[in-house]
Amino acid sequence: MYGVVPKSIWNKLNPADDNNLCTWAMRCLLVEEGNRLILIDTGLGNKQSEKFFSYYEPHGKDSLEKSLKKNGFSTDDVTDVFLTHLHFDHCGAAIKYDSDKKLVPNFKNATYWSNEAHWNWAVKPNSRERASFLKENILPIQESGQLKFLKEGDEVMPGFSFITVNGHTEAMMLPKIQHKGNTIVYMADLIPSDGHIQLAYVMAYDVRPLITLSEKEKFLQTALSENYILYFEHDRKTQACTIGMTEKGIKMKEEIRVEEI
Ligand SMILES: [Zn+2]
Repeated sequence: MYGVVPKSIWNKLNPADDNNLCTWAMRCLLVEEGNRLILIDTGLGNKQSEKFFSYYEPHGKDSLEKSLKKNGFSTDDVTDVFLTHLHFDHCGAAIKYDSDKKLVPNFKNATYWSNEAHWNWAVKPNSRERASFLKENILPIQESGQLKFLKEGDEVMPGFSFITVNGHTEAMMLPKIQHKGNTIVYMADLIPSDGHIQLAYVMAYDVRPLITLSEKEKFLQTALSENYILYFEHDRKTQACTIGMTEKGIKMKEEIRVEEI
C-alpha cells in the first residue's frame, strides 16, 4: 500500500499484523440532491468465495445496506452508482447473486457510471491488474443495460463533476462535488488515505507510478489553492481533511467528519 516507502516508516502510520496485513476502509459516499441519490463506489460486496475473502479478512460492523438503512434508504432507492474504477474493492457490491444464483445489479433502479477508456481497459485486463478486475463484477453491469459512459468534462448533475487520472489505472474518475460552498473531492486510489498525501507514498498497485506522482502533485497544488476537502475511501480513521503548506511540504491541515459538512 505504500510502494517504495520502507516498512520501518509506514508501519508507524498503519501497523501491520503478523500476516503483514493492515487495516483499511472501503468508505463509499452517498450524495442526495433533489430526486437523485448517487452512490460513489460500492465496496467489495459479499458474493466472492470464502477463499477469496480469506486473503483480505473483511471485518467490522458496517455494511453498505446497513449504512443506507441508517439514512432511511435501501438499495432500490439509489438512482446512480458512480464507479471511480472497476477494481473489486470499489465495484464488488455493484452486482449480486439473486435467488437463482444469477448475477444481477444490486441497485436495480440505478444508472451505473463508468467511462469508455476504463471499461475497455478493465474487460481486457493486463496480467498485472487481472486479479483486481473480476469479470463477475463487470460484465453483468453491461448485460443489465444499466451502464452509461461519462466523457471528460461531463457532469453527473450540476455541481457533480469529476477529475480523470491515469496513474493508478487507466482513466480512474475522482468525483468533485460542490456542497454548501465547499468542494469535496472523492480521492479513490489517487490518495487513498491521509498517509498518502506525501508525494513519494504511491501504492505498488499503480500501473504508472510516475504519472501518479505528477497527478498527485498537480492535484495537491490545486486543492491547496482552492481549499478542497479531500474525502478518503481507504483511510481507516480519517474520513476527510483539508490540506496546508508546511516547511516539509503539503500536509493534512484539519481533519473533517462528514457529519460536519
Ligand atoms: Zn484501485
